[in-house]
Amino acid sequence: MLFEFATATRIVFGEGTAATLPDLVRSFGARPLVVTGASTERAAWLVAALSAEVFAASGEPTVELIREGARRVQDSACDVVVSLGGGSAIDAGKAIAAVAANGGEPLEFLEVVGKGRAMALPPLPFLAVPTTAGTGSEVTRNAVLGSTEHGVKASLRSPLMLPRIALVDPELTYGLPPAITAATGLDALTQLIEPYVSARANPLADAFCVEGIGRIAGALRRVYRDGADREARRNMALASLFGGLALANAGLGVVHGFAAPLGGSWKAPHGALCAALLPHGMAANVAALRARAPRHPALERYAAIARLLTGRSEASAADGIDWVRALCIELNVPPLRAWGIAEADLPGVVEKAAHASSMKANPLPLTGEELLQVATAAW
Ligand SMILES: [Zn+2]
Repeated sequence: MLFEFATATRIVFGEGTAATLPDLVRSFGARPLVVTGASTERAAWLVAALSAEVFAASGEPTVELIREGARRVQDSACDVVVSLGGGSAIDAGKAIAAVAANGGEPLEFLEVVGKGRAMALPPLPFLAVPTTAGTGSEVTRNAVLGSTEHGVKASLRSPLMLPRIALVDPELTYGLPPAITAATGLDALTQLIEPYVSARANPLADAFCVEGIGRIAGALRRVYRDGADREARRNMALASLFGGLALANAGLGVVHGFAAPLGGSWKAPHGALCAALLPHGMAANVAALRARAPRHPALERYAAIARLLTGRSEASAADGIDWVRALCIELNVPPLRAWGIAEADLPGVVEKAAHASSMKANPLPLTGEELLQVATAAW
């Protein structure tokens, strides 16, 4: 057995820890850039406490946005970057800190559609503070960027890009509306299920997956119904963090393989796409494993997932899929067509998904026909 496990230098978790953020940021630099989502209001307290520059990352980050952010860092001589927001704001800040320190051109380093050059210089110190419980991006070493020109999403990736501090304060998620709570929470669940059955699964990531799936099973319905449920919000925040740790070290699978091209071509939030695809991706993998690799360890792992989700010791892989399907209905997850995707678009999406980097870690390769079935079922 051989595996590596990399994570943020320091993880700070707990209710109220956001109050320590200004001091933490100052310990890294005197001229911070605060990166937030479209509404900068949420970060006003931090910007004021730090007399910082503020940069709004509206929507999921693009190559153009990162170029603009890197220019802001250079023009204002910023020496530390802190993101306070959802996955988009965190990925944007992470990419800006890296690109600004390495010459300012994202396409030099972007995988798939760019030159994919390795980062030579360490990024500016970067602190990540999530306000959703979903992406786990605060502990990963990549930032997903859309390229409008190419209609896909691709990663900037470097071991140097791990945030210096990941500060997770569940109180920051209390105000999330139910639809975003559902989409981000199901993304977190996907990011615990896919690494657990992944071709790159390893015992350390497994521990985070098992712990995280169990927490989501009890908490996701609760936070959807009552956003102020402290215990359930804490469990979701932990599960999201564990998902980030797991995916960064064990990879993902078919659901994220689809989320990359879909998110690159349609304006749909990443979490909502994963939520729509999750039960169908699980079903396709279980059917393909049964048909072609009945002794594959991932099959028993799907049964273990079912036991964690249902709390029943005799639950089968199929019960786990049914549980996720029922949860998606209860949480009003919209199908793919709700995002403007036409049925005629699906074959093209399948073509791109087959080559997505996340697909490589799927427990077994799925055929084009199987992939089309997943997309059609989620449509
Ligand atoms: Zn995801």
